[in-house]
Amino acid sequence: MKAMVLHDVGKIESNPLKYEDYPTPKPSTGEILVKIISTGVCHSNLHMIEGDWVQYGVPAKLPIIPGHEIIGKVAELGEGVNNLKAGQPVGLSPLWNSCGRCEHCLTGNEHLCDSAQITGETVDGGYAEYVLAKANYVYSIPEGIDLQSDAPLFCPGVTAYRASKMAALGPESTVYVVGIGGVGHVAIQTSKLFGARVIAVSTSDEHAQLAKEMGADDVIMTNRNYDNLEKYHDSAGSVIVFSPSQKAIDASLRLVKKRGTFVMGVFGDIHDFRFVKEIKVRGSMIGPRSDMNEVLYLASKGKIKIKTTRFKVAEANEVLKMMKDGRIVGRAVLSP
Ligand SMILES: [Zn+2]
Ligand SMILES: [Zn+2]
Repeated sequence: MKAMVLHDVGKIESNPLKYEDYPTPKPSTGEILVKIISTGVCHSNLHMIEGDWVQYGVPAKLPIIPGHEIIGKVAELGEGVNNLKAGQPVGLSPLWNSCGRCEHCLTGNEHLCDSAQITGETVDGGYAEYVLAKANYVYSIPEGIDLQSDAPLFCPGVTAYRASKMAALGPESTVYVVGIGGVGHVAIQTSKLFGARVIAVSTSDEHAQLAKEMGADDVIMTNRNYDNLEKYHDSAGSVIVFSPSQKAIDASLRLVKKRGTFVMGVFGDIHDFRFVKEIKVRGSMIGPRSDMNEVLYLASKGKIKIKTTRFKVAEANEVLKMMKDGRIVGRAVLSP
């Protein structure tokens, strides 16, 4: 098969992904081979490719094929797989597999499993024609999902949904969503589903426009230093941050009012924490399979939409550069 393969981490400007022939994998017992229709391009793909996460052991192997939000059709069944049929549309999320026995797996939090395998980070992912999957970790795709462009439901979709859950929202609440990129634009919709008033905080006119299209009640414009938000300090019951910027995190923490909830969906540090405000700080990371299935159900009913721009897998270096510069509106999706 053809795939975009990472042999060595490096800055995206040096085109570290190579489009080349790669052995088509064979499904073992309990696995399936999926013929890929579309794969979303995630900011975390860029972090891995550029070597930002080597300290965390990512990528776990080289060469590796990135990509962890995937829609395809079952091409081949490994031995012992009887819950799926050839030709059936399925999706893969970052959670490729987990141990099934630890405290987190047994309490429905398998996305936190310490021995989880991550699609495109510890095993080959979706910037390719085919991908292997564990039959118990793929999702059947209901009617109403667009196989060509809804692959990002499998990462931004579930990530946004879980963050909105973590933000303790209800009809009386106001939530600020900071960073209106691939995840943030979905978080506006998922926060609306919980009844909250949603205010987007954006650094670009294009993203602000997208926020309005996605149902934001209001948009606050800021700059890349996030240094003009004083008048909004202590005003939000909940704040969700998806902007991968320490300045955004620092500024956003100040927006939370007393006893409010601060949800971080990105790497970063908490500075200047004012304990006297009795704020709750929560991390949110992807989500378990139960949240993923809820997202698929909601999307099949038209309640969660992904704004996408489509490209070819072979263009992945270019697309990642555009994402790095903030030139992708919504989410980029690659097709073989
Ligand atoms: Zn992702
Ligand atoms: Zn486990």
